[in-house]
Amino acid sequence: MSALRIEQVTTKKVIPKTEDLVFGKHYTDHMFVMDYQEGKGWYDPRIVPYESITLDPAAMVFHYGQTVFEGLKAYRTEDNQIKLFRPDENFKRLNRSSERLSMPQINEKDVLNYLKELIKIDQDWVPAEDGYSLYIRPFVIATEPNLSLAPSRSYRLMIILSPVGSYYKEGIHPVGIHVEEAFTRAVKGGTGTAKTAGNYSAAYKAQEKATKEGYSQVLWLDGIEKKYIEEVGSMNVFFKINGEVVTPELNGSILEGITRMSIIELLKTWGVPLSERRISLDELFRAYEQGLVEEAFGTGTAAVISPIGELNWNGKKMIINNKETGEVAKQLYETLTGIQTGKVADPFHWTV
Ligand code: PMP
Repeated sequence: MSALRIEQVTTKKVIPKTEDLVFGKHYTDHMFVMDYQEGKGWYDPRIVPYESITLDPAAMVFHYGQTVFEGLKAYRTEDNQIKLFRPDENFKRLNRSSERLSMPQINEKDVLNYLKELIKIDQDWVPAEDGYSLYIRPFVIATEPNLSLAPSRSYRLMIILSPVGSYYKEGIHPVGIHVEEAFTRAVKGGTGTAKTAGNYSAAYKAQEKATKEGYSQVLWLDGIEKKYIEEVGSMNVFFKINGEVVTPELNGSILEGITRMSIIELLKTWGVPLSERRISLDELFRAYEQGLVEEAFGTGTAAVISPIGELNWNGKKMIINNKETGEVAKQLYETLTGIQTGKVADPFHWTV
């Protein structure tokens, strides 16, 4: 591991009151930065004051979108420790995303150690209140000034930290979902399994439609047959149908969520019947007509569990569990957030 250089701020910012936190608006005093050059590898890991960066206008990230990112959280426990939830999985996924975008691999262990140092320095920014956390955004950008269509030969990895408010200010509540048939999030062979910028900006049009119709998220279907369920917003999706929990199998266009992975492990240890398989909208609506759809929920770092109360498929509506949060969703939410904040035992050693 190269020696970490640390340059601390001379004047600290005022930490916003937790009730004033808006997602993604506030950043801590410091950030982590490390550069890469072909032939040299990663060099100069450093923690420096949070500030704007200067890039050449021809930097390749601006033109061909060679960039990947991650999202994870640090939580403050009741006994005043700071815990990360499965950060090794985030750095593994960052490397998988980078591989897809022809970007260099990082040393996952080293970068996790740098992250720990960064959080130590900015530890006062980790909120203590229930439901609040410090959102961590690692990302890599292509920095070479060059307009030719080929992978950049230089990159920058950065980690920025943002204290975030509770997703559920008025308690966990089910949301309405618009089923998107025209726009596609990802196709097999594309970049859906990578956390890369273009996947997210390309999703805005469908989200605009959902918002206009009064729904809070989009249900994404497979891009080829427009038949099979893939994800919901930027979350993985689960259904409880006739006693069995079903989630779409990883098929080459679905992002492998760390919450999804954890839920599958939890349900298996609880002995809840579970299958990862292809599931079509037709099958779901047929099960609904037979009264067999018991629960539906999205899963991801931001909300952990986001229950689905209603699905609108081109005017065909499905009301799930009377628009109330189901038992499985509730138990998963309590267990996962309990493990994350140290209130519930962590037999899996997920927290660090
Ligand atoms: N799908 C997409 C497209 C996402 O961006 C995310 C958020 N990273 C997820 C699913 C959920 O992943 P995780 O549980 O790791 O947050």
